[in-house]
Amino acid sequence: MMAQYLALKAEAGDCLLFYRMGDFFELFFDDARIAAQVLDIALTTRGEHDGAPIPMCGVPVHAAESYLARLIRAGNRVAIAEQVETPEEAKKRRGSKALVARQIIRFVTAGTLTEEALLEPRRANLLVALAPVRDRLGLASIDISTGRMELEECAAADLPATLARLAASEVLVTEGMEDAPAGAIARPRSSFTSETGERLLCAAHGVATLDGWGSFTRPMLAAAGGLLAYLDHVGRGTLPLLLPPTARAATGALFMDAATRASLELTEAQGGGRAGSLLAAVDRCVTGAGARLLCDDLSAPLAQRPGIEARLDLVQWFHADPLIRADLRVALRSLPDIGRSLGRIVAGRGSPRDLGQLRDGLCEAAWIAGLLSPRPDHPVLLRQLLPALAGHDALTDLLARALVATPPTERGSGGFIAPGYDPALDALRDTSGDARRAIAALEARYRTETGIGALKIRHNGVLGYFIEVPARHGEVLLHGEGSFTHRQTTANAMRFNSLTLHEEASRIAEAGGRALAAEEAHFEELIERACAAREAIAGTAAALARIDVAAGLAERAGEGGWARPGLADEPCLTIIGGRHPVVEEALAKAGERFVANDCQLVPDDRLWLIGGPNMGGKSTFLRQNALIAVLAQAGSFVPASSARIGLIDRLFSRVGAADNLARGRSTFMVEMVETAAILSQATERSFVILDEVGRGTSTYDGLALAWAVAEAIHATNRSRCLFATHYHELARLAESCEALSLHHVRAREWKGDLVLLHEVAQGAADRSYGIAVARLAGVPAPVLKRAKGVLARLEKGRAETGGLAAGLGELPLFAAALEAAEERSDALRERLGSLDIDTLSPRDALDLLYELRRLA
Ligand code: ADP
Repeated sequence: MMAQYLALKAEAGDCLLFYRMGDFFELFFDDARIAAQVLDIALTTRGEHDGAPIPMCGVPVHAAESYLARLIRAGNRVAIAEQVETPEEAKKRRGSKALVARQIIRFVTAGTLTEEALLEPRRANLLVALAPVRDRLGLASIDISTGRMELEECAAADLPATLARLAASEVLVTEGMEDAPAGAIARPRSSFTSETGERLLCAAHGVATLDGWGSFTRPMLAAAGGLLAYLDHVGRGTLPLLLPPTARAATGALFMDAATRASLELTEAQGGGRAGSLLAAVDRCVTGAGARLLCDDLSAPLAQRPGIEARLDLVQWFHADPLIRADLRVALRSLPDIGRSLGRIVAGRGSPRDLGQLRDGLCEAAWIAGLLSPRPDHPVLLRQLLPALAGHDALTDLLARALVATPPTERGSGGFIAPGYDPALDALRDTSGDARRAIAALEARYRTETGIGALKIRHNGVLGYFIEVPARHGEVLLHGEGSFTHRQTTANAMRFNSLTLHEEASRIAEAGGRALAAEEAHFEELIERACAAREAIAGTAAALARIDVAAGLAERAGEGGWARPGLADEPCLTIIGGRHPVVEEALAKAGERFVANDCQLVPDDRLWLIGGPNMGGKSTFLRQNALIAVLAQAGSFVPASSARIGLIDRLFSRVGAADNLARGRSTFMVEMVETAAILSQATERSFVILDEVGRGTSTYDGLALAWAVAEAIHATNRSRCLFATHYHELARLAESCEALSLHHVRAREWKGDLVLLHEVAQGAADRSYGIAVARLAGVPAPVLKRAKGVLARLEKGRAETGGLAAGLGELPLFAAALEAAEERSDALRERLGSLDIDTLSPRDALDLLYELRRLA
């Protein structure tokens, strides 16, 4: 057995091996140690290997799913080795001591789950493969549970951002890839080639060319090759549901890097989890598929106008008709997750219940198609979606006739084919029904015949049907001349058989067996019919999800008084009466009101510097405008009374280091790395929010860096930017930067108390109210008093010396300073270009070096 185990374990590689032994999956050696710890189950030993006891633990087969879920969540992968013959078969084939043959029938990994119990209903579950091809990267991603597959390409530098967008459960890379993402699984290089990708895709879809689905680049196809080879490996040759791949255009989405996503808390709050995220504040979807699509939409807002307008038109249509929206949402609420049912069915793990869900879901879809029946005012997107909802009548009719109302999740014990569907099956069921009745009659007859009122005919898995009487009556039957033969004596009872009972029991067993076989055959055929319609069904599921998202966004807009954003071509960001959807919701729960604020960035006033006291609402204001932009480009109404947004190509959000102490690296280093990324990537069409950048270092360094960063964004990147800072000195930037203006969050001291108004107003902040904020926070009075004394001294010093910014009077303009540097480097370049190096003597070369240094 150990030899068989070790061979399977070698095949399983770094997956935990679930080794089937009777009613248990057993784990041995290190696998057992890991599983026992994760699952909190007993670690025992069994036998010896190399002279040491073998650690072992096991989980019962019937409860394996929940244990699997916990192991997968803890970051493990599992190979399942099943018994592929019965012990009797093994004995017959290979002698009385033969070991039952076992095979790995499947690998269970985080990215390849289909089981309802292991998946989160409102989150997609992605598997991603990466293929580096020179300085580019191909990415292939698939949600196995629904078969949706996307191919894309990105520059190596954009990989972290792309991975952050995808938020995959499992990432595959080629063996030996440099800078592979943490936790990625290395796979043989040979499968990551564009030829393999093309071949496997064509084979999976039974087509000769991929041209019909878009144009795929070599890196994309190479990634697809790695992905499909892995799927083939984990499914042991059975491929899951695969829909035709789509190519994602690099320019199609609003670019956001990982830091931006995290700081804006788009789909997950910073502490982890959905609560507190933008997604949670916006999601009013009533189906799991809708919620998953909304999560996608917010993770990858669009960057092109037609797509955004089409989504907005649909939201607006539902917004304008609350009655139809209400009916629709009631219908959607009872809709099963047909996309995931289909995924299980195609992967060979479908149950009768999954077929029942397809039937119910597709019927519901047809009903919804009727509810939304074509009207002249239909937006284009709805007109495109409606045809996908109908057209399944033949399949739903078939399933409706074939299946009982609520089919079981287990197919093994039958009972899911409806009466009337198959006369032969009905007859078999009648036969076993008759026999059951005959057995009941037999019991009554035996009672009268023997005079034993406590006589019962019972059934169990080992003996089948048997007659049971209490022990004290047993002797009578044992020695009587009746037709009873003894089978078993237990503590309290004696068990018998009889010829008639045996005959009736055989009738039941035979009819039952044939009925099961008939149901199994019908099941296979229904599965085949469903698989044949896989693409159409997936199309229906996708259309319903899009409709749910739009209706949910309309619902949200209605609840919150949100407005449809207008899209503009010039880089502006004009938001009137804007609110932060998450903060507003939190305040509303506490019975407090959110103060709406305006933001008006235009090309010649594109950088707002925002000062004011801590807790005054600066961060909230920055983020709410970024979130409004994200919502708008995702195709949602926005929490504002009006909004006009020039399309944004890249969105950046950075928070000064002090807020991120939890992270490992030097926080100031992180802050600067992230700031560097903005300065090198932001464009005139980008939107940047910077919150207290420069805070992570000494006052002088911090002020100097904040100053230079603001200047660079103003003059070089020319992006729209909101810049929150507590450095008053930065206000002097307004003197030299013509498109920069000063703003502050208002506060007042009233009878010695600080009142934060959370209002954004024009002009520089007058003071920082730090001591007043400290009072609000409960700092003891003696400390506050002392701080006031120190402050008075400092302010006196500032008045006398000119303070922190004293030396800035003669600072040349940022642009002028840059130009001077550029001029110098031009002279250098010119001189270098004019050289004829081959004619230089060593002596001339040295002179030249001196000359060049003078130019630098
Ligand atoms: P800052 O960045 O200036 O320190 P925050 O933006 O973190 O301030 O805001 C501090 C708190 O003030 C928030 O948690 C919120 O409760 C409240 N707040 C912020 N903006 C508003 C607003 N516009 N209306 C009402 N309350 C607000």
